Amino acid sequence: MGTKKLYDDHPYETEFEAKVLTITSSGEEKGWNVVLDQTLFFPEEGGQTPDRGSLVIGGITYEVEDVSIQDGIITHQIRSEQAKEPEGETAKGRILWSHRYSNMQNHTGEHIFSGLVHAAKGYDNVGFHLSDHIVTMDYNGVLTEEEIQAFTAKANEVIAANLPVICAYPADEELAKMEYRSKKEVEGAVRIVTISGVDCCACCAPHVRTTAEVGLLMVVGSQNYKGGTRLSILCGQRAVEDYRKKHAMLSLVGRQLSTNWENIFQTVDKLKSERDNFKYRSAQLSAKLLEIEAKELSGERDVCLFTDCNDRNVLQRVVNKMKEEHSGISVIFSRKESDGAEEYTYVASSLTKDCRLFSEKLKKIFQAKGGGKSEMVQGSVVASKETLENCVKNLNIL
Ligand SMILES: [Zn+2]
Repeated sequence: MGTKKLYDDHPYETEFEAKVLTITSSGEEKGWNVVLDQTLFFPEEGGQTPDRGSLVIGGITYEVEDVSIQDGIITHQIRSEQAKEPEGETAKGRILWSHRYSNMQNHTGEHIFSGLVHAAKGYDNVGFHLSDHIVTMDYNGVLTEEEIQAFTAKANEVIAANLPVICAYPADEELAKMEYRSKKEVEGAVRIVTISGVDCCACCAPHVRTTAEVGLLMVVGSQNYKGGTRLSILCGQRAVEDYRKKHAMLSLVGRQLSTNWENIFQTVDKLKSERDNFKYRSAQLSAKLLEIEAKELSGERDVCLFTDCNDRNVLQRVVNKMKEEHSGISVIFSRKESDGAEEYTYVASSLTKDCRLFSEKLKKIFQAKGGGKSEMVQGSVVASKETLENCVKNLNIL
């Protein structure tokens, strides 16, 4: 016989007493598996994470680290220095209510949303996962952004309607006549969770009593997934907390931009186009500056310039002018836009020397990339301005 699931009939209770049936090693260091005759701990099952809480056995309190179910037997994992043998003793259990209630709110929220999607589109949630932070649902059909928004609004109407959420084990003949959603073939007695007019689904998890307790349902992510749509939702306190954080962030950004949150998008859009204009102007100025610097370079053999200009045509034009004035290799290093190490693209040209030797040298010293022809090479290199300057100064390619 399996463990009696107290959470089935008493999802709002947090404390219970049970008889310890067995305590055996879990195989992990100091790990023990505790089996009781009954429990309030919901195990990891049907895509939902297990309850958290503690067990008191023989006067000692143990944190319950995991709860699993196999063949109807629920196992609580605890950690202890030594094996106790209190079998037959009474254990006192306490589940962490905030965690349980959050799971109940989010799970009922999923039923509401999936029930609405199933009724309107015929899609099933084929990959449900309820973690401690987020709920993901994988629908076997595509939902557009407009549909997602419409289902979200409808789900929140169902929540506000305060409909009863009924969990029951119907008799076989009654069950045979029922139409209900089911993720897989359920063995043994089938528990059906019904929200009248919204959803009917086979489910083993604890739920809230009425839809109003879900509080709020928000879709916070959507992506194409295996030919369908994967959605992430938050319900209850999780949704409220998410709203609070996002509101605080929007207010902060609004303050930075001296606007209210409704105008943030337009303000950022304007700033982006201003930035693009500045970038364009700056690139033009960099190109002009580069040409001036190239003219002013003293007549050494091997010469190099550093620039922010990254217009390939400008770089090639200037380096071609430089090689007319200098007998060795002429190089321009153009700073790349990157957050990390100093990185440059380079272009080198010469009338008399083999530029490939320069490229090889950069590869050898800095593991640079690139190559080309004898008269011109291009590539990229990660190194500081100073070391690159020294490298060109001491080039001596004959
Ligand atoms: Zn369910």
